[in-house]
Amino acid sequence: MEDLVIKNAKILTMNKNSDILNNSWISVKGNLISGIGNMEAPKAKKMIDCNGKLVMPGLINVHTHASMNLLRGVADDLPLQEWLFNHIFPIENKFINKEFVYWGTKLAIAEMLLSGTTTFVDMYFEKNEAARACEDSGIRGIISWAALNLPTKENPDKIAKKSEDFINKWKKSSLVIPAVGPHSVYTCSEKLLKKMKEVSDKHSCIYHIHVSETEKENKEHFKKHKKSPIKYLNDLNILSEKTLAAHCVHLDKKDIEIIKNKNVRVAYNPESNAKLASGIAPVRVLLENGVTVGIGTDGVASNNNLNLFEEMKFASLIQKANEMDATVLPAKKIVEMATIDGAKCLGLEKEIGSIEKGKKADLIVLDTKKPHMFPEYNTYSNIVYSANGSEVEIVIVNGKVLVENQKIISFDLNEVMKKCRDIVEKIRKFKEASSQK
Ligand SMILES: [Zn+2]
Repeated sequence: MEDLVIKNAKILTMNKNSDILNNSWISVKGNLISGIGNMEAPKAKKMIDCNGKLVMPGLINVHTHASMNLLRGVADDLPLQEWLFNHIFPIENKFINKEFVYWGTKLAIAEMLLSGTTTFVDMYFEKNEAARACEDSGIRGIISWAALNLPTKENPDKIAKKSEDFINKWKKSSLVIPAVGPHSVYTCSEKLLKKMKEVSDKHSCIYHIHVSETEKENKEHFKKHKKSPIKYLNDLNILSEKTLAAHCVHLDKKDIEIIKNKNVRVAYNPESNAKLASGIAPVRVLLENGVTVGIGTDGVASNNNLNLFEEMKFASLIQKANEMDATVLPAKKIVEMATIDGAKCLGLEKEIGSIEKGKKADLIVLDTKKPHMFPEYNTYSNIVYSANGSEVEIVIVNGKVLVENQKIISFDLNEVMKKCRDIVEKIRKFKEASSQK
């Protein structure tokens, strides 16, 4: 007897042949997909009849800062440096604690699950709380503890030890995959960047870092080091297939060559880059060079949501407009970037990112019977250009149903909203007091 069977489904597999299966079923045993077929469905403890609706792999958000959900809309329409140093950092300095991270992450998880994300890559502080939030809610998280020591000059060994303790604590979790998170070349000393690489090598985990997000970052880096951030990281022997480089908006030809040769994975965050007026990442050129690119939202403080359906559409449209070429980033490639390519960014392509027997059961069911999803001449096109996340009806992660009938069933959302409201009230008062100074 199977644990779960989803039947009468249209299945967008995202497998190597890009198979789309009509009138089919998927069976789940434990946390794995145990079978896919189109004959009579096997018996199961729980049956879900899709009635022709679409099942696809859960979406993968390759770059965010989940607990920043508590800072949604706290400061908008400002350039990155002013936004970060005058608005975000002062609030973070005062408010980041275990409670903030746990409840902020839970709020982010609720938003992600309800819009079809089943795996996210996170970077922030107090990460034991974020990891706990993943386990308590059932979502898959690649969690990195942000490491930075400029200008604070905190001891790199001390920071590395904290990261290592975190990795050791969570490495056996079935949902949390710990990673290292050196924040960027402008907030980490050379010694810290290298130290984190040692930790990443020792534990074979992702090296998650912001790279070349703004022109200013590059200019200042050139002034100080006479080379680009990518060239600098390469000369420090840091880059590898374990590197997940977020943004990569400002790259020159040599940078792209290095990224390609070192098999660096890129997290493309088009909405955040546009909102902060940082620019548009050269995704077409990266893809032409065979670089693996996934899609991220970045934190809501610069987005202002974690909706990957919205992000997919924008990811494609802004490139088309920028290049004045409608063939750039077609719908199918965008869906790949949000599923199987996202998994490749994390070295998890054998486990998640597509619907195949033996893979983890991370699945979403979309109500494709809604008016805005009809007609369906091309499934990829409808997902990228017509869907907005409101179609997500059922979400399954690691074989467990977390969302049913568009409602979270794995935890109490009302409790999360109440706790978050209390924290937000304090932030609001602090903001008001500081603006009166
Ligand atoms: Zn970021």
